[in-house]
This record gives sequence, C-alpha cells and structure tokens, in this order.
Amino acid sequence: MPDISKINELILPSATMEITAKARELRASGKPVIGFGAGEPDFPTPSYIVDAAKQASENPVYHKYTQVNGLPSLREEISKTAKEYSGYEVTPENVLVTNGGKQAIITSFMSVLDKEDEVIIPKPYWTTYPEAVKIAGGKPVYVESNLESDYKITTSQLDEVKTNRTKILVWVSPSNPTGVVYTPEEAKDIYEWAFENDIWILSDELYEHLVYEGDPTPSPAIFDNELNNTIIINGVSKAYSMTGWRVGWLIGNSKLINIAKKIQSHSVSNVSNVSQVAAEAALKNGLNETLKMKEAFNRRRLFAIDIFTKIELIKSNSPQGAFYIYPDVSEIIDGKVIEGVNSSYDLCNWLLEELNIAFVPGEAFGTPGFIRCSYALGDDDLQEGLSRLYDALSKIQ
Ligand code: PLP
Repeated sequence: MPDISKINELILPSATMEITAKARELRASGKPVIGFGAGEPDFPTPSYIVDAAKQASENPVYHKYTQVNGLPSLREEISKTAKEYSGYEVTPENVLVTNGGKQAIITSFMSVLDKEDEVIIPKPYWTTYPEAVKIAGGKPVYVESNLESDYKITTSQLDEVKTNRTKILVWVSPSNPTGVVYTPEEAKDIYEWAFENDIWILSDELYEHLVYEGDPTPSPAIFDNELNNTIIINGVSKAYSMTGWRVGWLIGNSKLINIAKKIQSHSVSNVSNVSQVAAEAALKNGLNETLKMKEAFNRRRLFAIDIFTKIELIKSNSPQGAFYIYPDVSEIIDGKVIEGVNSSYDLCNWLLEELNIAFVPGEAFGTPGFIRCSYALGDDDLQEGLSRLYDALSKIQ
C-alpha cells in the first residue's frame, strides 16, 4: 500500500468533535447523556432565515455555482454589518465567503505562511488553531496563560517568543475555550505590539456579539484601516445558531483576498449557494434574534458560574463572553480523589461513564488540568447536568 502524508503524524482529530460524537452515540444507545461539549447554540436557526433558504432552494438561480468569493449581495451585507455592528469599514472586495469560520482560518494560514513560519497561539487555545497551522506548513509557538492571569497574555510574553520567523498572532476575544474578554486597553496594547513588529493578527471574531459584562473587545481593524496587518475571521454559526449551514468569511486586504480566492477556487469553488442566501437573510435582519439567545446564554452563564464556584474541589473562572467556562480541576486528578482519575482526560471519561455528563478535557486546548464546559444547552439540561456534577463532587469532598 502506498504511504500517506507525514502530516498524519503531526495532527490530531478535533477533540471537541470527538466528544460530541461520543455523547451523541451514548444518547442514541439510550443513556441519559447531557452534553457540555459542543460549541454550538441549542436553538434552531431563526425561522426567517429558514424561510429565505426554502425560497432559494426552489429557485433554479440558486442551484448553480456562485462567485468564488461569494454572492456579491452577501459580501455587501457583510461589509455593511462590519460597519454597523463592529465599527470598521471594508468593501465587499475585502471579503471572501468560506465554509464556516474554520475554513476561513485554514485558508488564511495557507495564504500567509511559508514552510516553518511561526504562528503565536495563546494557551489555552481553541483546538483547531495549531492543527490548521501545521496543515498549512507552519509552526505553532505558544504563550502560556493561567487562571490567575484570567487566561490573558501580555506583550512582554509576546516579546519572549517572537523570532524573525514570526508571521501571525492568533487572537480571539471573547475566547473559546475560556470565555474571557480582553478590555479595549489590553487589546490595544497587543494590537500595537503586532503592528510595530509587522506581524499579522488573525482576529477570530466568531463570538463578538456574545459579551455579557464589561466593554466588548474592539476589532484590530478599527485601528488598522488599510488592513495592512489584520485578518478578520467571522461567520453566522454562533451569532445566528447556524452551525450546520457552514457560512463564515475572512476579511483582509486585496493581496490576501486574491491568494485566498485562488486557494478557494481550487478547493471548494464556493460555499453552498442556498446557505449563502440564508446567511444574507440572517445579517439583513440585524441582531434581534441574537440578542434573545444572548439573554438565555447569560442566564445559563450565571447559573454555571454559581455551581462551579460552589464546588470546593474546583477553581473556576468567571467568564464574560462566548458560551464557555474553563474551570481548573487539578485538585481532583491526582489519582487519590477518584480512583483511576489521573488527568483531566480521565476525569472527562469518568464523568461521561459514571454521571452521563460530557465535558471536553483541557488536553484538547493545550492545558491539561482543566475542563471546558459549554453552557449553550437548554436550561433544564444545564441544571440537571451540573447538579449531577455538584452532587457527585460534594460527596467526595
Ligand atoms: N473560531 C472559534 C473560536 C470557534 O469556537 C469556532 C467553532 O467552534 C470556529 C471558529 C469555527 O466556526 P464555524 O462553525 O463557523 O466553522
């Protein structure tokens, strides 16, 4: 049998997808599993969006390929939305519509990186960043953060890891997996560092509309009008509960968009035409539905923070954004508290097998000793699942 690529030894499958699949399988086999693993809203896609897609699916115009960079009307809407809700100005030519934010990320890495170029990724990181960098031929370089620093990094840490091969800084606020939101001042410091060092900032803004407390983090595009250093990643997955429709986009300067377009033209040609129409309908109707979902997420966030802070064996953060909480479980994983549980990975397996609750272990985000809890699930499930956790761990302590 001929050999496969050496990349196989370098990359891991998505742990968040794996845990979600395992929870789904167990549920299908009749177990009362409650999943805190999936990074997707539990709400159905708002009906006005589904209606727009229904109409498009019956119109032969939308049965064809679209422009490689996406429907002009959708790109127009994306640039209008960027101005109205995110505060920066771009033209539709600065936009490339992709199959979700994920494809926008890997396309950006492929567009910018040469072999062995370095990408700085703050830890804990969203599980896809390092793997996407490696697939694109680059080298991930990490900057550590911890619960004590509220999972935030500083420019002096960036100075320590910068080399003459540093090409990109990955930036995500609100963050997956921690839910942390940088203040405008903290963000500006980091942006200035990147601009002064002429390093790209890949700003992942998928959660920009989900900030519950404090000021939202401004996009680097607000300070970098020409997009000399800034690549924006965004999409409709999280803000409009459209994870399955697969529509995201990247925003960048014309040089970047041209190469990204070439890559896209040979890989996927374009995003599903009907899905693009659905995304356009989502954006055209503003943020009303998003704000309703946000209210529910906030209620669940406060509930989750309350439960986690009551569990003595766990140290929890108090996230202000996205829909994740990232508690430190290092006290429970020394093998003595729960027999056979020697890591956060073991703990997640134990929680799934013994209590039928699914969390993602910190190993998936580069920081063993933690677990990620997504609170984007129904209130009843959230309460039932976290009560199981609370009751079990309280008995132990
Ligand atoms: N960026 C972050 C930080 C995410 O959490 C996710 C999804 O979990 C994505 C990008 C990808 O989103 P999409 O479903 O649009 O590919």
